[in-house]
Amino acid sequence: MHYEDLTEYKYSAFPEKLKASRGLSDNVTFLNIGWLSGSYPFTTGHVSDDFLHKVFRLCRNAENMFRGFHMCDVCPEIVAVPSEKSEGGITHVNRRYNLIRTCEIYKGETLWLGAKEICVAHKDIAYIAPDMICHYIRNHSYLPPNGFIEAVLSHE
Ligand SMILES: [Zn+2]
Repeated sequence: MHYEDLTEYKYSAFPEKLKASRGLSDNVTFLNIGWLSGSYPFTTGHVSDDFLHKVFRLCRNAENMFRGFHMCDVCPEIVAVPSEKSEGGITHVNRRYNLIRTCEIYKGETLWLGAKEICVAHKDIAYIAPDMICHYIRNHSYLPPNGFIEAVLSHE
């Protein structure tokens, strides 16, 4: 599933739930962030440790669970079996058989990814990203747009 960064989010009813659960106003615009695919180019670059830490914390508390789950479409077909020892997040996955999910190991904690979304609201914008975004940033050097980085950094 691929959406360009900063396009309007229309994938699910998540915004309606967020308006109710977080009291977001009707004026908030919901934008897509980090819906990467191996078939489309994306911006790469370096992010700060502070940003990465906050993104992982958001992904750990991700919401809006789906029935199924997505795998990373940027990784090669078969990567590696997860190792609890491999801090730095070697992941995953045999996509052909859908047997193993994409995961990230961050500071000793394993996050299983691909079934939830995060929402980062800042001013009149709420960015919605797949929880896989932490994997994209760390393993594929994905560099999200500045507005999203600011929103995450301003998050407590
Ligand atoms: Zn990947």
